[in-house]
Amino acid sequence: MLDPFLRAITYLRVSVTDRCDFRCTYCMAEDMNFLPKSDLLSLEELERLCCAFIGLGVRKIRLTGGEPLVRRNVISLIERLGERLGHGLDELTLTTNGTQLAAHAAALAAAGVKRINVSLDTLDERTFAAITRWGRLGKVLDGIEAAKAAGLAIKINTVALKGVNEDAFDQLIAWCGAQGFDLCLIETMPMGEVMHREETHLPLSAVRTRLAARWTLTPTNYQTGGPARYWHVAETGRRLGFITPLSHNFCESCNRVRLTCTGRLYMCLGQEDAADLRAPLRASDDDETLRAAIRAAIARKPKGHDFDITRVAVPRHMSVTGG
Ligand code: SAM
Ligand code: SF4
Repeated sequence: MLDPFLRAITYLRVSVTDRCDFRCTYCMAEDMNFLPKSDLLSLEELERLCCAFIGLGVRKIRLTGGEPLVRRNVISLIERLGERLGHGLDELTLTTNGTQLAAHAAALAAAGVKRINVSLDTLDERTFAAITRWGRLGKVLDGIEAAKAAGLAIKINTVALKGVNEDAFDQLIAWCGAQGFDLCLIETMPMGEVMHREETHLPLSAVRTRLAARWTLTPTNYQTGGPARYWHVAETGRRLGFITPLSHNFCESCNRVRLTCTGRLYMCLGQEDAADLRAPLRASDDDETLRAAIRAAIARKPKGHDFDITRVAVPRHMSVTGG
């Protein structure tokens, strides 16, 4: 599938639920209104949609959310998609807050998942509780330990927040090095109404300059098909990535689209346009109608986003499309 700018669309991110057991300050309001459960696609419908995308050339699927592992029976979807690995699908992965990993890590590995992203913004218990509002650091660290024991490669994602966790990066770099994890720092994106967005925005260009005074950072060509730019950290032997959507435009190499749990396909994280795939999915058991709707959506993929930290670029929260 080629979009109007001749970018091949090979990566599908699927938000399997917009619900979550955390309320991270930069992601959600404390009193969130979630999508009505009656609007959700069933796991079987999500599988059928994913398989239609695989049939059209998608090689990588990432499950996200909300918190993907809080959706009931989500492991059955992961097992079914895992059966497509080597049959059109090259990689199946997920992004998680880690709270359910102690229970599910072994099943993920058995289904063919090889690497996961775990979000962790600090190693300090009190700061962790303040950022996630409802989270307990110990539970996440136990989950990470279980994932490591199950043989999953782990990348830690850390959202950089001015005045909140900017003193945590050195400790995270050292800890990730000791654990054998890569680390990626993420700049906040203006999605959904949340408190203190502008005050906590921290440009990563300045962070990198500061970290380079303490760590020996060498740029690498490493690519995961995502927007991160990676540096090698000599002292730990691990990679350190930076995702800077506001200060560095990465749209020219965008290979992805995002599906929500109600069957809406967002062609760009930073734009409002979306295509409804639920109606064509339910209209017929014949996948041709669905494939035509997917192709028509890809033909509308915009050139890029339009983020500006001083305003809410898109009113939907990150948990709807999963980042
Ligand atoms: N609940 C899972 C988790 O936290 O990993 C998956 C969904 S979460 C929306 C995916 C990623 O988006 C997380 O790494 C989270 O930190 C990040 N994120 C959420 N809101 C964001 C925002 N406004 N700007 C930048 N990153 C954000
Ligand atoms: Fe939940 Fe992930 Fe959003 Fe935090 S970032 S509230 S864990 S969806």
